[in-house]
Amino acid sequence: MLELKGANCDKVKIKMSTLSPASKKRVEQNEVDFQEVMLKDTDSHATVAVWDKMVNTLQKGECVTITKCRKLAYDETLLLVSDDEDDDVDNNGNWSNTPISDFKSGTITAVFDVDPYLACPTTSCNNTKLAPAESIQCMKCKNCGRNYGESACNNYIRATVMIEVEDSNKPPQKVAIFKPQIEKLFTSRGFTLPSSNDQTELLLKFFEIIPVDIKFHMINNTIKQLTCKRVA
Ligand SMILES: [Zn+2]
Repeated sequence: MLELKGANCDKVKIKMSTLSPASKKRVEQNEVDFQEVMLKDTDSHATVAVWDKMVNTLQKGECVTITKCRKLAYDETLLLVSDDEDDDVDNNGNWSNTPISDFKSGTITAVFDVDPYLACPTTSCNNTKLAPAESIQCMKCKNCGRNYGESACNNYIRATVMIEVEDSNKPPQKVAIFKPQIEKLFTSRGFTLPSSNDQTELLLKFFEIIPVDIKFHMINNTIKQLTCKRVA
């Protein structure tokens, strides 16, 4: 039988015990449906978070299969990642010339959230996240101060993931990753990015690919570049 404490397994089948009432949680700028489910076996229990469209679809006593269970050595004091833009350069200028030999090896072990958003189409704004402008159907960039119609904006994605760095005594780190690198991850696993930019669909794709080993270059808690092995 499974040990939920320290669970590290690819698949568990388990009976729903207690379900919390559905509520909302704030993830980035969005209110997302949220529910907690208590899972039990003979001698231990675990609480599992249920998000978005899955909320209110589960019933007490029902058996479900959960895949890719990982115990998270998650340190609450980890730095919170809050940048909304994908800065293309660091303070010294060019990161894109970082030789691959300087990349670190690590594993993306979890995903916390995925945020598809409309980004500023102006190149120098580096995909700054846009906020709705006062006039309807217009988005405003806080960086360049301009307004854009939705069709003119870039569809961009930002995700927050957990990375465990090889050969380091550091605890796993919570870091941001943006669309070009997310696309590389997905492609390496034979997936394409869902064209709908649907948050749930993106999250489910992430759940399918993690854990994933990468070599990466990181600046200010953002994975700027990565390579990963293609898996057939
Ligand atoms: Zn802008």
